[in-house]
Amino acid sequence: PPMGETILEAKDVTRKFGGLVANNNMSLSVKAGEILALIGPNGAGKSTMFNQLSGVDTPTSGDVLFRGKSVAGHSSREIAGLGMSRTFQHVRLLPKMTVLENVAIGAHRRGSKGVLPAAWRLDRDEEARLLREAAVQVERVGLKDFMFAEAGSLALGQQRILEIARALCSDPCLLLLDEPAAGLRLKEKQALAELLRRLKSEGMAVLIVEHDMDFVMSLVDRVVVMEFGEKIAEGLPAEIQSNPAVLEAYLGG
Ligand code: ADP
Ligand code: MG
Repeated sequence: PPMGETILEAKDVTRKFGGLVANNNMSLSVKAGEILALIGPNGAGKSTMFNQLSGVDTPTSGDVLFRGKSVAGHSSREIAGLGMSRTFQHVRLLPKMTVLENVAIGAHRRGSKGVLPAAWRLDRDEEARLLREAAVQVERVGLKDFMFAEAGSLALGQQRILEIARALCSDPCLLLLDEPAAGLRLKEKQALAELLRRLKSEGMAVLIVEHDMDFVMSLVDRVVVMEFGEKIAEGLPAEIQSNPAVLEAYLGG
């Protein structure tokens, strides 16, 4: 999609778990070539929102438009096929397999929660094709030197970047990243930010859930703030940093 075109639009998304309203009339949009942060205190409903957007879960009400198509309640597989790709809050790698193999799994099962190699059942041509596709993404994120290293031997920052390489395999136009900088050292955060800026410059849209405010505010174009399942603020990083409701949510809680 052309830069600046709205590709994702959540409209009044509500998700209730029994009596708990985890997302309450949440609306947000993301444009091609934009990095949007979704922030808020623990339990605010950010991961739940990601699940509604990516087809991992179905909203109780409301809609999600992705590239103009209503996808609320559609399968994560179908949504991934349309060009939305995500990572999860906790690293989901196969530590004894190589970096390349871990990425190839992403190329094989886009959008699924994970698959075991035994379930691949691929013929040799298909396997070779997946490995070629995976190698392109490993190079794209700068992990070429680690292609044949065991994923579990990488530093946490590299594992997060590996997860992004895996997400890139389906050739997405929108990436959803759930706390990619959590637990990373400063240098690793800088490498991650650099990668995300490069993807953005290629026209990628990125929606990122992140707690590290220095990381968020220096990287993103816009910020949406959630508290208790609701949107409490939206704006440029500078506006959000001085927004009284946001300060209250983080400090007053
Ligand atoms: P965040 O990612 O902002 O920390 P979550 O979206 O994980 O918050 O959770 C929001 C709220 O929804 C929390 O109170 C959490 O316990 C609840 N919640 C999330 N998923 C479920 C579920 N599958 N069943 C019941 N409650 C859930
Ligand atoms: Mg979360």
